Amino acid sequence: LRSSSQLLVLLGISNGGLLAYSDSQADVNALVSESAPQDAQKKKVVVLGTGWAGTSFLKDLDISSYDIRVVSPRNYFAFTPLLPSVTCGTVESRSIVEPIRNIIKKKNGVVQFYEAECVKIDAANRRVLCRSNNGPLIGKEDFMLDYDYLVIAIGAEVNTFNTSGVMEYCHFLKEVEDAQRIRRSVIDCFERAVLPDITEQERRSILHFVIVGGGPTGVEFAAELHDFIQEDLVRLYPTVQDLVKITVIQSGEHILNTYDGRISSFAEQKFQRDGIEVKTGCRVVGVSEKEINMKLKSTGEIFSIPYGMVLWSTGIATRPVIRDFMEQIGQSKRLTLATDEWLRVEGCHNAYALGDCATINQRKIMEDILDIFRVADIDNSGTLTVTEFQDVIQDILVRYPQVDLYLKSQHLQNMEDLLKDPQGNERKEVDIEEFKIALAQVDSQMKSLPATAQVAAQQGTYLATCFNHMEQCQTNPEGPRRFRKSGRHRFQPFRYKHFGQFAPLGGEQAAAELPGDWISIGHSTQWLWYSVYASKQVSWRTRVLVVSDWTRRFIFGRDSSRI
Ligand code: FAD
Repeated sequence: LRSSSQLLVLLGISNGGLLAYSDSQADVNALVSESAPQDAQKKKVVVLGTGWAGTSFLKDLDISSYDIRVVSPRNYFAFTPLLPSVTCGTVESRSIVEPIRNIIKKKNGVVQFYEAECVKIDAANRRVLCRSNNGPLIGKEDFMLDYDYLVIAIGAEVNTFNTSGVMEYCHFLKEVEDAQRIRRSVIDCFERAVLPDITEQERRSILHFVIVGGGPTGVEFAAELHDFIQEDLVRLYPTVQDLVKITVIQSGEHILNTYDGRISSFAEQKFQRDGIEVKTGCRVVGVSEKEINMKLKSTGEIFSIPYGMVLWSTGIATRPVIRDFMEQIGQSKRLTLATDEWLRVEGCHNAYALGDCATINQRKIMEDILDIFRVADIDNSGTLTVTEFQDVIQDILVRYPQVDLYLKSQHLQNMEDLLKDPQGNERKEVDIEEFKIALAQVDSQMKSLPATAQVAAQQGTYLATCFNHMEQCQTNPEGPRRFRKSGRHRFQPFRYKHFGQFAPLGGEQAAAELPGDWISIGHSTQWLWYSVYASKQVSWRTRVLVVSDWTRRFIFGRDSSRI
C-alpha cells in the first residue's frame, strides 16, 4: 500500500488490521488488502501454493530476513504419492495432509497465510490479485498483495486435451477431494450393481472401472482398485463378484512407458494375470454419460465401451493464471512457463517459478553453451586449442548437470571424437562449427525435468538456500562465470538429483528404478516402498497416521462404508 494513487480506507481493526482500498490501475474496482505488521526493511516475498514446491521452500527458508505471505486455496500440504491409496481407503485422507499453519508455526518468525487463490499476477506492478475461497470478506472477496519477490508454485491442472465429456463425466486424481470422491464412487457402483430389477448387462456396465492413461498414477490406481475389490469388496458383494472389470486405456504401445522396459513389461504381465485389461494404442475421443468412445490408432476404427466409473489420468496442463502471466511477460507462444536454471522466470526476473507450473528452458541452456564457446574463442578464429576445448567442456559440465547426464550417456564420445581428425590422429585445434553439430544431437536428446514431487521439493529447497544467501552472495557471488556480462552469477544453478522412482503394482508387489540403473521388482520392493514413503512424510503426526492406517488395513481390511 505504498502508492499515493491508492485511496486507503482504514476499517479500524488495530493490530494487523484490514485495509480496503480502490486502485485506479487495478482491473477490479475495489480490493481489500491485508496489512499485517510489516517491517519496511524486509523484502516482501509472496509465495503462491502450498504443494511440494511451496512447502519445501517455506520449510527451508530463513524467514528472519523476509516479510512472507503465503497464498493457497488449500490450507494444507498433501502428500500426493499416497493419493491413490486414499481412493480405496488403504490410507485415510487426513493421514496424508499436514496443516500449513503447523508447518509455518515451526518457523522462528511471522509468516502470513491466506486461504485464497491467486487469480492474477500483475507483473508490471509487482503484485498479485487474490480471491478468498471462503466467500465474501467484509463485502469483498478479492485482495491485493505487493511483492519484491514472487515465488510461483501453484502446480498444474489436469489435461483433458479438450476431449468432449471429460470434464462432465470423468473423475480426476489431483487433489484429496478427488480421491475422496473416487472412494465414494467405487462403493456407489457396487451398491447400484446389487439393486434389484436390473439386468446382468447393466450390472456389468456399472462394475466396469475404466482408467484413461497408463502412466504411474493410472497404473497405481488400477492396482489399488484391484486389491480393494479382491481383498475386501468381493466378500461383501459376492453376487456380483464375477461381473467386475477393470480396463486401462493407453494411447502409447505400453503402460508405464517412462519407466525402464523391464518394469513396464512386468506391470503388463502382472495386470494380465490379475485380469486387468490393458488396451494400448487407443485414444479416447469422447465420453458420454454411459460410454467411452475410442479410436484405435492403427486402423482409425472408432468403437465405444460402457462404463460405471472413469478415471482420467493423462497428464497435466498449465493453469489459466499462469497462461495470463505468460502473455504479460512475452511467453505466450510457449506451452509452459519457462525459467532459467536459477528458477527465475524468463522475462520477469523478480519472479521465480518451481514445481509442476514451470519448466527450465533447455533451449536457453544450449544458447548459453554456445556463448561459452564464443567467449572462449578470443581471437574469433572459429577454432579452439585442445586444452581450451577441454576447459570449455569442463565449464559446461560444471554449469549444466543436465547436459552432463546426456553427454555422459550418449554424446561425450562424440565430443572426444572431435579431438581427433577423420584419420584418428590427435588434432591441434577444434572447429567450433563441428562442435555445434554435435551439440545439435545433444539438444534433441535433452528433456525437461519430469513433473514429480521429487523435482518440486528439490527446487523448493534450492530456492530457499538462494534466498538465505541472497545478501551474502550479492557481494560474494558463488555461481559460475557469466558469459554475456562480466563477473559471476550469484548462485550455483539448480541441480536435480534423481533418487529413483517407484511403481506400486498391487498384491504387495512394487517395481522401482533406483539410482545407478538398478531395477528392483517384487514383494521386497513393496517393503522398500513402505519404508521410503513413511520416511518421506512431512511430520511425525502424518508418519504415525500413515503407518497405523497400513497396519489397520493389514488386520481389518479396508472400510467400505460410503461416507
Ligand atoms: P502441487 O503439489 O500440485 O501444489 C500446488 C499448490 O498450489 C497447491 O497447494 C494448490 O492448492 C496451490 N494452488 C493452485 N492454484 C493456485 C492459485 N491460483 N493460487 C495459489 N495457489 C494455488 N511425484 C513423485 O515424485 N512421486 C510420486 O509417487 C508421485 N505420485 C503422484 C500421485 C498422484 C495421484 C499425483 C496427482 C501426483 C503424483 N506425483 C508424484 C507428482 C507430484 O505430486 C507433483 O509433481 C507435485 O505435487 C508438484 O508439486 P507442486 O508444488 O509443483 O504442485
